[in-house]
Amino acid sequence: MSTYGQLITDAVRELSSLEYSDAALESKELLGLVLGMDCRSAEFDEKLWQEADDDSEQRFFDLCQRRLHGEPLQYIIGEWDFYGKTFKVGKGVLIPRQDTELLIDIVLEQYKNPDRLSVIDLCAGSGCIGLTIEQRLSGVSLAMVEKYTDAIEYLFDNRLRFGSSARIVKGDVNDETLPKQFRKADLIVCNPPYLTAKDMKELQTEVGAEPVEALYGGEDGLDFYRSIIRIWKDVLNVGGAMLFEIGSTQGKEVSDMLIQHGFKDVRVRRDLSGNDRAVIGFKK
Ligand code: GLN
Repeated sequence: MSTYGQLITDAVRELSSLEYSDAALESKELLGLVLGMDCRSAEFDEKLWQEADDDSEQRFFDLCQRRLHGEPLQYIIGEWDFYGKTFKVGKGVLIPRQDTELLIDIVLEQYKNPDRLSVIDLCAGSGCIGLTIEQRLSGVSLAMVEKYTDAIEYLFDNRLRFGSSARIVKGDVNDETLPKQFRKADLIVCNPPYLTAKDMKELQTEVGAEPVEALYGGEDGLDFYRSIIRIWKDVLNVGGAMLFEIGSTQGKEVSDMLIQHGFKDVRVRRDLSGNDRAVIGFKK
């Protein structure tokens, strides 16, 4: 018989073999899931001294095996935090990244208590960007576009979770006719797939478990920027903003594209690691 604490010790040893993992944290998260407890709580720490029951031990072991086979922790848990709120995630949808929180910072700097702000989130995935903007600002009317059936399920669930009345449109952002379904917007925000063919060959195992459709942006990673700027710019009001997440080497190319399409005040912004991570431009 083992205590829950001993199960954690064993799991940490096993999970340490994974290249990108915080084995201690992940083991606790997985045990918390099995026990239905918050692994950061005092009750959880107490529980570690108790004898583990067979059923919990087996379920914990099964979850650790899934993790050892490269399934991301976030998919196993089924939710993940973004900008202080918890979103439902799972196979088929991109996991919210901390780097992406920069987009929210930029929006909150740019717009303070607007009376009305019409926002479109393209390639919305879990909805973490659009729904966070809607939560954080007054007067937002939000539309979110997502192409894939698996991902859109999470989008509907998260909309419900946040009591949002955002419009969800199933469609391809590269479809030239799609913008006709939208009224003019003040802000178009998008975290498109932007990994290059070379990046895709070097993916860490966990990222490889995420949908390739949410990651691969064509040979040079820039396909979505090229078509989105061209197809969607006319949906913006004069003075409206287009805001993209970008790969760390794509700042110049994406800025140039916005400038070529007549955007002004185009700026590249860095994430907390100091990498270029976002580009914003305003319609003249
Ligand atoms: N930032 C993600 C990664 O590095 C890529 C997400 C995207 O292509 N939008 O895995």
